[in-house]
Amino acid sequence: MADAETDIQYIKGVGEARAKRMAKLGIHNLRDLVRAYPRGYEDRTAIRHVAELVTGEAVCVAATVGNDPRERLIRAGLGVTKVSAFDETGVLEITFFNQSYIKDQLRRGEAYVFFGKVGGSPLHPEMTNPIFEREGANSKTGIIAPIYRLTAGITPAAMSNAVRQGLAAMAEQFPNALPRGVREEHLLADARFAYENIHFPASWEKLDIARRRLIFEELFVLAAAMRLFKLARGEQQGRVFAKSNFTEFYAALPFELTGAQKRAIDEAATDMASGERMNRLVQGDVGSGKTAVGAALCWFAAKRGAQSAFMAPTEILAEQHYRTLGALLEPLGVRVGLLTGRLKAKERREVREAIALGMVDVAIGTHALLSEGTQFRDLALVVTDEQHRFGVNQRAALAAKGESPHSLVMSATPIPRTLAFIIYGDMDVSIIDELPPGRQKVETFAVGEKYRKRIYEFARKLVGEGRQVYFVCPAVEESETEELKAVNEYAERLQKVIFPELRVAVAHGAMKGKDAVMSAFAAGEYDILVATTVIEVGVDVPNAALMVVENADRFGLSQLHQLRGRVGRGKHKSYCVLFEGAGNESTNERLRVMRQTNDGFQISEEDLRLRGPGDFFGSRQHGLPELKIASFASDMDVLRAAQQAAETVLAADPELSAAANAPLRGEIERMFQLAVDN
Ligand code: ADP
Ligand code: MG
Repeated sequence: MADAETDIQYIKGVGEARAKRMAKLGIHNLRDLVRAYPRGYEDRTAIRHVAELVTGEAVCVAATVGNDPRERLIRAGLGVTKVSAFDETGVLEITFFNQSYIKDQLRRGEAYVFFGKVGGSPLHPEMTNPIFEREGANSKTGIIAPIYRLTAGITPAAMSNAVRQGLAAMAEQFPNALPRGVREEHLLADARFAYENIHFPASWEKLDIARRRLIFEELFVLAAAMRLFKLARGEQQGRVFAKSNFTEFYAALPFELTGAQKRAIDEAATDMASGERMNRLVQGDVGSGKTAVGAALCWFAAKRGAQSAFMAPTEILAEQHYRTLGALLEPLGVRVGLLTGRLKAKERREVREAIALGMVDVAIGTHALLSEGTQFRDLALVVTDEQHRFGVNQRAALAAKGESPHSLVMSATPIPRTLAFIIYGDMDVSIIDELPPGRQKVETFAVGEKYRKRIYEFARKLVGEGRQVYFVCPAVEESETEELKAVNEYAERLQKVIFPELRVAVAHGAMKGKDAVMSAFAAGEYDILVATTVIEVGVDVPNAALMVVENADRFGLSQLHQLRGRVGRGKHKSYCVLFEGAGNESTNERLRVMRQTNDGFQISEEDLRLRGPGDFFGSRQHGLPELKIASFASDMDVLRAAQQAAETVLAADPELSAAANAPLRGEIERMFQLAVDN
């Protein structure tokens, strides 16, 4: 008896050699085999008479072979086998290239079904290299045929056959993570039906039913996993902060907060009053005003005598936050301190002491702030201004570190709303989907080389008006030295040849002292900053009014959006110019999206649609496993239902310890185990 764990080499017709090759496709055991879902299907259900054949159509013809197949060698390496077949309406001429074994497979006077694309003319229809089998076999023709991902040495037929045998060997042991109740409530097919019909659908309708079940199941496992992690993280207790209003804080702000900002603040304050530890993500587009949200909560904690840590991804951002929060909070009696590696040893010591003694209410620094073991007197809130997403596992590790202050993570990377709820399924999410009023749209242009001179002149004109300009080149993949060289050469050219009269600076990811360069640029000591994507990270230079991106085709949409977010931050009309580079269709579509919208969420939805989740997230930064059948881009409605089902199951069995939930637990472990191992 075979089960999901059975090695495929023991499956009939597979054997050791094929099993080795199939391992390259990630197929090791029966479970992998039945989950090697087709990447598409070919409709071979239409059966026509010869007289009905339409040129160009791919159809089946049931016909009798009328002569012995004739083989001819046209030239070395090109053999042609010809045969004619007929039915009661006409004759079909069939040609096979380089398939000399055909002559042993087709017999005069016998009936076959041929499937292929019709060529020739209506009166003289032809087929080249058709698929065929004896009439009545129904294993290759007359069916909806699966198309599989293949690898060297595994033909479509071998793959189909292995799957057929695998399905048969599974008998009643198909993997099934769906509890019966869920399956019934959501009217989902049983596992056997689903696996059989996903590979060899009896009809398009049955294929849909099978797909729906498998997609639901996969998203259900994922949602249950996120829920499980969230519960496991525990009802960790958090300090209770009596809730009150933020009137005093709001009154001190130089602007009126947007509704979305207030909502985020309110949601976080509710968490902090709840008795449970807050674990909230604030997601907001560039410039949506996340800093003010973080500041509000630091103020909230300080008013109640507790300390906060405010962590930025870079020193330059930490300094920026220090200036902003200091100006805002000090007048309200909140003491703000800065702790970075750039401080002199003595200053560092003093700040640390002040933090330890509780003389500082809000400590601002880089992410090293906590890891360096800074002692707080009474740390109750950590605000993380996070650029890069943490994987689920990393978050779990952080949470497990023991001490558990309330945590608020602010992410500037807009991800599609629907996706946020999965990726951050173990966190609560607030979304700031509104920009402060009066923001000017950054005018965006995608241009070719012939505009280069004009763009340079435009940059010169803006600098003449007192503005500053960014030039960004793509990161060079091969090596950092290469990258440095590319960006340096480019900067040198701009300085020496194009803008000899202007002040040009360079900043590069691996460069020592890049923070100093960027600070100097922020202070207006340079007119032009040539950089790689280091500037993606939220620098705020309101005087910068033009962003020029070289080889924009090499950037993803979300990345371009982040880059564009570096301008239009002040009162000046701002522009973004994208040099198309060696653009193609998909580049054009990406750049079109950039021209059309400034909405980061919409851009991320498009990005996801155009690139698929794999590329969208890059190297699995999201810490999520790869989905085999469901798609983050198109199965979002199913996701919601699956999520609800998962919540119901976990509510009844929070540790999934019931025997009925063992398969679900197994699937979760497998899903995340794989994500770690791969
Ligand atoms: P991000 O969400 O990208 O971190 P910031 O917090 O840096 O955005 O805010 C961007 C700019 O918008 C800052 O100069 C900030 O002072 C300003 N700002 C934030 N909220 C508002 C608001 N409600 N009205 C007007 N300006 C605001
Ligand atoms: Mg920010």
